Amino acid sequence: MYELKSVHKRYGLAKVALRKIDLTVRDREFLVIYGPAGAGKSTLLNILAGISKPTSGDVLRNGSSILRVPPEKRDAAMAFENYALYSHLSVGENLAFPLKARGFDRAEIEARVKRISGILGIGHLLERRPGFLSGGQRQRVALGRAIIRPADIYLLDEPVGHLDAKLRHRIRAELKALAEDLAATVVFTTTSSREALALGDRIAVLNAGRLEQVGKPADLYHRP
Ligand code: ADP
Ligand code: ADP
Repeated sequence: MYELKSVHKRYGLAKVALRKIDLTVRDREFLVIYGPAGAGKSTLLNILAGISKPTSGDVLRNGSSILRVPPEKRDAAMAFENYALYSHLSVGENLAFPLKARGFDRAEIEARVKRISGILGIGHLLERRPGFLSGGQRQRVALGRAIIRPADIYLLDEPVGHLDAKLRHRIRAELKALAEDLAATVVFTTTSSREALALGDRIAVLNAGRLEQVGKPADLYHRP
């Protein structure tokens, strides 16, 4: 379980990106952070990942502050909006990288690369370098690299935002099934209300740095 306790984030002197956020991420839930561009979604994910520090407030994991735990010592798998792939490695090598780094054996790596590239529809691109991919293909590789390994928490920042509607719907469904299958804890950001309702066990509505509502889709949907 992760808890944000009164997390406040300012950039520079004037820009407030998050305003005293109190939010719990429960074990094994699919939590969607929903809000328009600029709401503070990426900032919130970066704080959970340890890439960014809150200006004030605390982040707890199972009751202990993790603010002083460096990102590499946390077990968060992150897919960024701007797909940071290794340009000198092929798609297959990019996918295998987090597994190799954790000492997975060859057979397990092959099996996972096959499964994840199948889910994401990138099985035919494994030999290619990222420079030869479209934006949507790169985004799928970045997502694959994040979800291919076991992790304490998966932080997915608009991971299907650049895909066309058909692909987005397919991957959305597969991602949800995979998360359930793995009993994974996922925090997923989106600007799409449909996507939030389709994926979230719970949805946190963020607007201009304020947490406006948190609840199950049905609770939010039926709100007057
Ligand atoms: P979202 O992911 O919901 O689009 P962000 O967390 O990226 O929102 O940004 C929240 C607000 O903080 C926005 O107004 C954005 O312009 C601002 N912001 C984000 N990163 C920085 C930064 N490094 N420096 C200054 N302002 C930033
Ligand atoms: P948003 O644009 O808010 O992200 P969606 O991507 O969920 O919304 O939906 C966009 C449109 O695609 C909707 O009208 C939705 O009904 C439609 N749609 C639903 N299922 C599919 C599918 N499997 N393939 C393509 N389009 C779909």
